[in-house]
Amino acid sequence: MGEAPAFLVDDLQDGPLNGLELKNGTCKTTTTVGDKTYVTVGAGDGTLSIDVQIFDRSLGEWVHPTVLGTKPLSCKGHSAVLCENRILVLKKGSKSDDQIWFLEVDTEYVRQQRKKLGTEVVAWSKGVIGNAEKPIVISGPSGVGKGTLISMLMKEFPSMFGFSVSHTTRAPRNMEKDGVHYHFTDKSVMEKEIKNGKFLEFASVHGNLYGTSVEAVEVVADAGKRCILDIDVQGAKSVRASSLEAIFIFVCPPSMEELEKRLRDRGTETEEQILKRLRNAKAEIEQGTSSNIFDFMLYNDKLEESYEKLKKLLGLDGFVAASPKSAAPREINLPLDHSVSKIDDKIIISSGLEKETKNLIMLDVSSLKGGAPGRTRGLDFQVIGASLDKLC
Ligand code: ADP
Ligand code: 5GP
Repeated sequence: MGEAPAFLVDDLQDGPLNGLELKNGTCKTTTTVGDKTYVTVGAGDGTLSIDVQIFDRSLGEWVHPTVLGTKPLSCKGHSAVLCENRILVLKKGSKSDDQIWFLEVDTEYVRQQRKKLGTEVVAWSKGVIGNAEKPIVISGPSGVGKGTLISMLMKEFPSMFGFSVSHTTRAPRNMEKDGVHYHFTDKSVMEKEIKNGKFLEFASVHGNLYGTSVEAVEVVADAGKRCILDIDVQGAKSVRASSLEAIFIFVCPPSMEELEKRLRDRGTETEEQILKRLRNAKAEIEQGTSSNIFDFMLYNDKLEESYEKLKKLLGLDGFVAASPKSAAPREINLPLDHSVSKIDDKIIISSGLEKETKNLIMLDVSSLKGGAPGRTRGLDFQVIGASLDKLC
């Protein structure tokens, strides 16, 4: 808690403000939710990122929140409007893929983190037009053939699938490249990043730390591809419990003898590591086949047959790889000088110049998906040629 910044005292004395810019600058907005007024402050000259402060009216005090998520970078100003439990922040003069942001103030994620950290929490999430296809989580014991099946899928459908590159503290194998197969990371660095909320899930597997960063999944979706995660059962369980909607597939070996043979023939582990992986395999298979985590079981006996089964359950059997790609993501171009208002779950963005209200942008926030610590997807928009009063 702290004192009110001098420039804000006068502005807040007159009672709650909502989505209005404050007197002494063009890049401070206030939004009131219950007893709290959220103030977002940007430098306006594009030199600072947007800062967040909260004035708690019931206490008459300023609260400095823990700000989670990836913060929006600098901009030439911003506007804000409340959408239930998050504040839509529109950046002025930014690139089309960096204009829409949400500051979550009371979402499920924020409530969980508030409880966990014992402090006031807000979280940033970047808004994205359109939806991403559900990611595919593939689990199974080491050596069962997950990597082989995923490689076949990515080779046949390179523009359709993208791999979530995990972080790990284990050493790279001969042919493995940093940033391609894994982000090979120091334990202390990874532990710090986990603490900072950068990971969607993490687990200790065969004595090393493995984890999926939020960014690893989001960059694949941003590229318009469907994300594939190769993670262990503990990781799959965590993803199941998260807000990420996915399809979960467990790959089973035909027998323990065959699993051992595949692990040994791969020749990438020491004898001690092979024995550890085989011991862990038993528990993994038990959990994978008995829990409710997985939507599909895939027995990887004959490789070609298993691959066909995998394609079938992903709806790709008979798919012609050369068929036209889905439409490119639509881009939104906000006017540099604009004002925002809200009608139900439509956000009306109009040019700041009154006579130019002909080209209004209507942003549809009725079907938002995901959110902090990742992107907020499901936004849609329409450019309409009508004045605001005709819409009301
Ligand atoms: P994982 O990623 O699950 O640890 P890999 O994909 O690395 O497993 O496969 C382990 C080894 O088994 C590799 O040498 C691979 O070529 C081989 N393999 C994968 N699937 C089959 C299969 N159906 N039959 C025989 N060998 C297989
Ligand atoms: P390997 O060392 O053979 O590459 O992987 C060992 C195990 O770690 C595999 O079962 C694999 O699925 C799992 N794994 C790889 N990346 C991740 C991750 O990001 N999170 C979790 N939980 N497990 C992972």
